[in-house]
Amino acid sequence: MNRRKWMTLGAITLAAGRAQAQGRLAPGQTTGNRQPPAGGGIPLEQYEPKSMLHVPQTRVPRSRFPVIDFHTHITMTSDGAPGKIQFDLDPAKCLSVMDRKNIRTMVDLTGSYGEGLRQAVRQLSEAHPGRFAVFTEPVWTKASEPDYPKFQADQIEDAHKAGAKGLKILKTLGLFLREQGSNRLVRIDDPRFDPMWEVAGALHMPIAIHVSDPEAFFLPIDRFNERWEELHAHPTWSFHGRDFPGNRELQEARRNVMRRHPRTQFVCLHVADSEDLPYVSECLASHPNMSVDIAARIGELGRQPRMSRKFFDKYQDRIVFGTDAHSSPSTPQQLFGEPLYEIYYRFLETEDEYFDYAPAPVPPQGRWRIDGLGLPEQVLRKVYWENAARLMALPS
Ligand SMILES: [Zn+2]
Repeated sequence: MNRRKWMTLGAITLAAGRAQAQGRLAPGQTTGNRQPPAGGGIPLEQYEPKSMLHVPQTRVPRSRFPVIDFHTHITMTSDGAPGKIQFDLDPAKCLSVMDRKNIRTMVDLTGSYGEGLRQAVRQLSEAHPGRFAVFTEPVWTKASEPDYPKFQADQIEDAHKAGAKGLKILKTLGLFLREQGSNRLVRIDDPRFDPMWEVAGALHMPIAIHVSDPEAFFLPIDRFNERWEELHAHPTWSFHGRDFPGNRELQEARRNVMRRHPRTQFVCLHVADSEDLPYVSECLASHPNMSVDIAARIGELGRQPRMSRKFFDKYQDRIVFGTDAHSSPSTPQQLFGEPLYEIYYRFLETEDEYFDYAPAPVPPQGRWRIDGLGLPEQVLRKVYWENAARLMALPS
């Protein structure tokens, strides 16, 4: 039987059960005239409660200041063809959304390397100057070869000459990249990558680095897991029960890298560890070369709005705007389009309460809603534009 079928919600049945426990109803008797639906409840996935709160609903069709979306996936590496790309988003469609939403520049993080990178640069940043920036990626397929440290450093120089503005590290490193032969996971702070981090720093290419994932992905998928529905929809996202390192171990390995390469700028994606802002604050305080983006994590930031607001005030020079936008409807919190940007703007600019963090009938990351931060103009300017522009040395 489908596991989801077991997770049913019978509001009427539950209310009746509670009343029975309090001795007000005889067994079999229900509350009121309504009979419970067949089966005693409705499946959780059919439950779409509408908020009855009478609170302001502000539409923010354009951001107050021009935006750099630091985290998008316009191109992706082609499946089974390393170094080749395919377009996930159509550049012309991007430009029309960008113009309507006040996005001056989109950063395509997954620009691959070699010929794929050259193609992405040609069709994005060269074809539309100022509107797109492209990042390169490491050649993971060669990571077990003896000359890799120098080879990879040379690749970064080559990518820089080709027009790459930075380096993207997917969570491949730390969770999936394994040594050829032994199958051992390669550590994030493995010294073979030191020349790569150093060269990127010397060329002023920021590192956009994603390690780990939400903390619940490391826990059993059981009734206590706050992301049960998300993990049920995407079972391969779970890192529980195999030889994966823990969340904190991955985070600490990234800190080792930031500590060893103080002249290299690291943008820790997805707020680094969005459920643990005290820890992220500690990291930012001890690593001056660290920034964070907010991509795909307004669902986390917006459910702790007071702590988030203080975090933005304190680290306003180190937070960049990003969405992780791509074309897949299976992750609505990242689905490129006007509704997505309007939610981000509402979250950052307004003090609206209890609204959806994704354009979807059911909150896809967890069943909660968010409150806006109402950031002051000076902070908005930095988060929308200035911090990312400085990191990528873009003309203002
Ligand atoms: Zn991403």
